[in-house]
Amino acid sequence: METRSVYIETYGCQMNIADTELILGLLKPHGYESAPTPEGADVILLNTCAIREHAEERIVGRLGDLVKHKARKPGVVLGLTGCMAQHHREALLDKAPFLDLVLGPDAYRNLPALLAQESADEPLVSVRLDRDETYADIAPARGEGVRAWVTVMRGCDKFCTFCIVPYVRGRERSVPASALLDQVRALADQGYKEVVYLGQTVNAYRDGEVDFGRLLRQTARIDGIERIRFTSPHPSDMDASAIDAMATCDKVAPYLHLPLQAASNRVLGRMERGYSIEEYAALVDRLRAAIPHLALSTDIIVGFPGEEEDDFRATYDFMAEVRYDFAFMFKYSAREGTRAYKWAETLSEAEKGQRLQEIIRLQEGIGGEINRQRLGQTVEVLVEGPAKKQKDWLAGKDPQFKTVVFPGNGARPGELVPVRVTSANAHTLVGVAERAYPV
Ligand code: SF4
Repeated sequence: METRSVYIETYGCQMNIADTELILGLLKPHGYESAPTPEGADVILLNTCAIREHAEERIVGRLGDLVKHKARKPGVVLGLTGCMAQHHREALLDKAPFLDLVLGPDAYRNLPALLAQESADEPLVSVRLDRDETYADIAPARGEGVRAWVTVMRGCDKFCTFCIVPYVRGRERSVPASALLDQVRALADQGYKEVVYLGQTVNAYRDGEVDFGRLLRQTARIDGIERIRFTSPHPSDMDASAIDAMATCDKVAPYLHLPLQAASNRVLGRMERGYSIEEYAALVDRLRAAIPHLALSTDIIVGFPGEEEDDFRATYDFMAEVRYDFAFMFKYSAREGTRAYKWAETLSEAEKGQRLQEIIRLQEGIGGEINRQRLGQTVEVLVEGPAKKQKDWLAGKDPQFKTVVFPGNGARPGELVPVRVTSANAHTLVGVAERAYPV
């Protein structure tokens, strides 16, 4: 079989990174190898995201850079996959008429056949959403590392009024549990130490009798896997079974990303998040009572249409009370195709920016205080590799998903190293290994 090469540039969330591995896995049996750069590649794909502001302009600009590769060698295919391909296909084809291929997230299975077609005059477009597609039978082509990302469900049924995901990724569907457990066993055999289960609402997972909690418990029985994480759960789906699995399985890490978005019931109602702030707060209490040393993170949007000063104060006060370990904080920006897109914005960009800065300052302070409570304690670090900034240092994560750096002690990626914390800021713990490893 003739070998061809494919270069994929990935934008957006972890789901998209996992989808890139899936696309590479789909193409591998058809003779495609992954290329590290677009130079020399036979197929160039941008795997896109529709969530971020100005993403479309950025992608069109990038396509403008990449089109030169089509002149370099006849037959080079330039294509677009992912959420933006699904969402903005007409606009993108207008702005980048040289595109050969546009593929939505449920159409990747068609890719080998489309690439095998003789060069077509018109771009090949495949954007049908599929209620059943889980790619359960496809083995993703993963990069090296200690952590493997495993997509357990696709799509979302929640339809929050600000979010485009349900429109571009379709309805919720879960990968059969047997396929997932086989995949994790294979990952353990390949030397991966940590799996991260992925889904837009990952804890809505269900395969017959197997709910998300049961899936976690079954995964925890697989030898070789040391840690299990997942992202992102939805607060409404965080049921007793999932909490029990977190509380009772040592391998399930004591860290939860629990998106809040806003703490005012009025704003939560307009967002149609499906919970009240009282329900969310009660869930946090239940989680903290059940899971010792639980680290919590969240997502916050400030300046949603209709957010008054009182609503913002409610969010600020709630964050001060809950004390998240960290938070991803954003200014609201309208996404075409969502319900909120039609709603008049009530704050200027500058006002949204001020509110954002306020909560960032608050969160930086809280994150630093929480991390400094770890001074003198020993944390167990799963080593990932060299630290980015300090030469000869190592970096990894502790169970609470904090980044820990320490002077190299001979430990290799994948080893669990006890590290005594000597200093900390809001983002990183610094320490010294309590054990040396033979080099
Ligand atoms: S739960 Fe809401 S925010 Fe999350 S993916 Fe679904 S619609 Fe979007």
